[in-house]
Amino acid sequence: MGSACRPDLVSPEMAASVAGPEIERLIQLLARLPGLGPRSARRAALHLIKKREALMTPLAGALQVAIDRIQVCKTCGNIDTQNPCTVCIDPRRDPSTIVVVADVADLWALERANATNGRYHVLGATLSPLDGIGPQDLTIDALVARAHESQVSEIVLALNATVDGQTTAHYITDLLQDANVKITRLAHGVPVGGELDYLDEGTLSAAMRQRTLF
Ligand code: ZN
Repeated sequence: MGSACRPDLVSPEMAASVAGPEIERLIQLLARLPGLGPRSARRAALHLIKKREALMTPLAGALQVAIDRIQVCKTCGNIDTQNPCTVCIDPRRDPSTIVVVADVADLWALERANATNGRYHVLGATLSPLDGIGPQDLTIDALVARAHESQVSEIVLALNATVDGQTTAHYITDLLQDANVKITRLAHGVPVGGELDYLDEGTLSAAMRQRTLF
């Protein structure tokens, strides 16, 4: 069989359109989602169309609600249907601790892990000179202002253990020198369930430097 007969060898751009423009548009939009290429997008579109009542209609409704109601929290930068967000107005959260994250996805990860009872501050990104992301692109001014509020006693820098993440951590630490807060950061080291033999040298040496009393 020649490759011309193998539809899976034809690139999506070259593939002949098999559906009307409305369906092609749906596929193109789905293909822009993270983790979905053109092929998965076609599969997802077909699934939605087949499950029109059970899935596509509720999904369209949920998307419309999201468009209408989701907003960025003016205090912490989280996204929610209320402003300030659910975390910020929850009286059970500890107002003395602010956990600084780069992105809402990191906030959600910490919440899933039930890792902190503090409140958050979403920077929006990390400093990255190579990508042209400077301090003015992050919500650092708002963080500095919050760190000076009297009830705040600890700023936890929960940033990625990457060059950009650590550069951002150092930059913020310098800016907060005159705030009356303890500045901490996440430990770097052996992951839960991790085996030493499989760790890279940087992680191993960080774990050794940051060893704790047993
Ligand atoms: Zn908030």
